[in-house]
Amino acid sequence: MSETQPRPRPPLMALDRALADLMGRVSPLLATETVALIDSDRRILAEDLVSALHVPPHDNSSMDGYAVRTMDVEAPGVVLPVSQRVAAGHTGGPLEPGTCARIFTGAPMPPGADAVVMQEDTREVGGNIHGVHIDVVPQAGQWVRRAGEDVSRGAVVLPAGTRLSAASIGLAAGIGRAHLSVWRRPRVALFSTGDELVMPGEVAPENMPPGAIYNSNRYFLRVLLQRLGCEVSDLGIVPDRREATVAALKTAADHHDLILTSGGVSVGEEDHIKPAVQQLGSLDLWQIAMKPGKPFAYGVVRRDAGAGAEAGQVCHFIGLPGNPVSSFVTFLLLVRPFLLRLQGASEASVLSSPRSYRMRADFDLPRADKRREFLRVRRNEAGGLDLFSNQSAGVLTSASWADGLVDNPAGTTIARGDLVDYIAFSDLLP
Ligand code: AMP
Ligand code: MG
Repeated sequence: MSETQPRPRPPLMALDRALADLMGRVSPLLATETVALIDSDRRILAEDLVSALHVPPHDNSSMDGYAVRTMDVEAPGVVLPVSQRVAAGHTGGPLEPGTCARIFTGAPMPPGADAVVMQEDTREVGGNIHGVHIDVVPQAGQWVRRAGEDVSRGAVVLPAGTRLSAASIGLAAGIGRAHLSVWRRPRVALFSTGDELVMPGEVAPENMPPGAIYNSNRYFLRVLLQRLGCEVSDLGIVPDRREATVAALKTAADHHDLILTSGGVSVGEEDHIKPAVQQLGSLDLWQIAMKPGKPFAYGVVRRDAGAGAEAGQVCHFIGLPGNPVSSFVTFLLLVRPFLLRLQGASEASVLSSPRSYRMRADFDLPRADKRREFLRVRRNEAGGLDLFSNQSAGVLTSASWADGLVDNPAGTTIARGDLVDYIAFSDLLP
């Protein structure tokens, strides 16, 4: 090729195709462990959780008031003597006809009672009978929580593959579970490439050498990996040299399920990831039709048959772009579903195409991009979306300021007032 001719551009791959391809290359690790319920936040259930009892276990009152037989209160103004008192955690005897029972929220219904009158609808009757004046006509079942209304015995409360949340952990406790079987955590080796990188804390801002920048990616990638339930080995910064990259990959492959790197996956001659991974396995460099985040690499690294390694197997490799916002966005859209599937999450909790909401753009995007664009935006008090002013892939302020992304199709301009597809960060990392 002569110097004056432009280099041919590699063809772009649609994001949906890249995602489908990536998901086709990962299968669940299929190793389980038992964890204490209290330590199961964000883990993926490896068993169907079946309830051995009704929740609530017995019919009970949902109000402080009086348990009655509705047949005894056919008109307002009836006065009933109080024949017993039932508090939560205690049980009463059968309700004598023509009487009522003082009852409190959560207390079991005395046999024979079929409704509760809340205490606000009653008045205590003075004098020597201990009774109440009932001001209303109760319907059968009123203010009664039925046994099994929440969960019935034998029901699957959470299917295998569910990613546990605060509420689902509470639900598991409610059926008496103190331990759960979950899929084991993926082991991920993380490193950054780039001779320009220095670690915060190692060099003070006033002593930064010329050309150096702090390593931001390592920090947010580590946080994202941990939030997704991974065990992370942090291999730090690997210099831009072939041998150093090969050595780092070799060590990491033996004891990890995934090696995740950032930087070095463009096509410049300082990008050493490609030849290094290819030397130890295979690598595909993708140019994804998305902005930010075009370069992305997926490959496998063979494991040494040496001590401790799972001989004959391979370790997944994912190379993210170096630009911080590209790295952040590609992690959320591609690595997140990959890691969820690796740890056995069901389709429903993988949400490989993240849920988006139609929202009003309170901004203009007069210039369309050829690629599908993920704009950093924030919801405003008027119920619309504001756009961060600088959408460059290197401007991490945009991702920190934003609370989500607008998924803008290729070749599309946006005018103030248009409806756009908004993806909340909180949906991606609940
Ligand atoms: P690369 O993909 O290695 O060509 O890097 C693209 C851009 O991202 C360059 O400007 C790098 O300096 C920057 N970059 C790469 N890695 C990091 C990192 N870990 N933290 C912050 N910026 C980075
Ligand atoms: Mg680099």
